[in-house]
Amino acid sequence: MDIAPTDLIRIKRDGGELSEREILTFIEGVTSGDMSDPQVAAMLMAIFQNGLSRGELNNLTTAMTHSGEVLDLSGIDPPRIDKHSTGGVGDKVSLIFAPLMASLGIRVPMLSGRALGHTGGTLNKLESIAGLRVEIPAHEFRETLKRCGMAIAAATPDLVPADRRIYTLRDATATVGHIPLIASSIMSKKLAVKADGLVLDVKTGSGAFAKTQEDALSLCCTMVEMGQSVNRPVIGLVTRMDQPLGRTVGNALEVKEALQALRGEGPDDLMEVTFALGESALQLAGMWKNQQNAQQMLSDAIISGKAFSVFREWVIAQGGDPRYCDDPQRLAQADEAFVFTAPRDGYLTVLDALEVGLAAMETGAGQRHRGDQIDPGAGLIIHQKPGDNVRKGQPLISVFCSDHRRISGIQQHLNNATQICDQPPPPEKRILYRVDASGIHIL
Ligand code: URA
Repeated sequence: MDIAPTDLIRIKRDGGELSEREILTFIEGVTSGDMSDPQVAAMLMAIFQNGLSRGELNNLTTAMTHSGEVLDLSGIDPPRIDKHSTGGVGDKVSLIFAPLMASLGIRVPMLSGRALGHTGGTLNKLESIAGLRVEIPAHEFRETLKRCGMAIAAATPDLVPADRRIYTLRDATATVGHIPLIASSIMSKKLAVKADGLVLDVKTGSGAFAKTQEDALSLCCTMVEMGQSVNRPVIGLVTRMDQPLGRTVGNALEVKEALQALRGEGPDDLMEVTFALGESALQLAGMWKNQQNAQQMLSDAIISGKAFSVFREWVIAQGGDPRYCDDPQRLAQADEAFVFTAPRDGYLTVLDALEVGLAAMETGAGQRHRGDQIDPGAGLIIHQKPGDNVRKGQPLISVFCSDHRRISGIQQHLNNATQICDQPPPPEKRILYRVDASGIHIL
């Protein structure tokens, strides 16, 4: 390193601005190991305390993007549009979005993640399809994308290695919840896949990273601008995550629901978010004429069975057993441990996403501790959603969990998650903002 780590840390600690060269040196030190854990951690805390200028943020993201290999998609016909969600509860949109857009001629290269805390991971969900391989080499990812129009896989260890180390140290130093650090972490991984455009679903609410709409909008705007600064068109939506999306939470249960959605039987909230992101992808792909036409294209792709066929072909291409698509009853389902019922008559006014996510994690659908075994068949089926009128004793949520020692913990989270009142809750919009090159649009 031509600049000492302590000098770099000192600049940021004292509120100075790091030059492009200094940021590159920092990221090279992170990737090579020349900077020790305490030094990287100190730099992260200095960034957390003093922030990053827009120039520093862009330079940091570019340096992180190029800290490892970059997935080149040349040779694969455009339009190639990626999608990312900041994570939520019951969010199985990617499983529907990718085949839906691929069936309309858009290539969807998606490098996805595993479950994080109470939020589910696309890869864990897909692994409930027997045989499906998500850890595939880059050449197979490209081949699958070419052949099926979509590919979903885990990032290889060589993709943005700097983020891996920084994320671990952020986790250990209480510096995760910082918008510029979140934005650089997400965008460095997205920019390392050379797509033509990116649609972002930035979640807000109790079940999201960004608890407030203000934070979510700020994160969304930051990421859209970061894309613009490197000529990567990005459209971001800010969507609510204060209740779970759809009617299932848990890996195989969510795959089942996604398959139903691909057969035209998806719940309204799930389809609304999926179609809104789909419309944004059509816009980035230059295929958008007007909203009515876009909605028609999307629903035709579902109703005709084309989106489902693409998903099935893709499952086969990545080694999965297509019988799981044809007969979703084959997907794992843990024992029904109990049914959580309404304690009184009234309107369900709250179904808190965070508490439902924690309950699902407790069933075995997620990891309570690092290294915990995930049960693909565990999770929840939600029978009633906020706004529904319920009677005392009516089933609200079915709980699937094979470990009966966990029942009281799950029950506690579901008690915390639900509220029943005499009056219905006021209607709420699900999609709050759309951010693109022209600015912020309130929806
Ligand atoms: N997802 C990421 O990839 N990084 C973050 O920092 C937060 C969410």
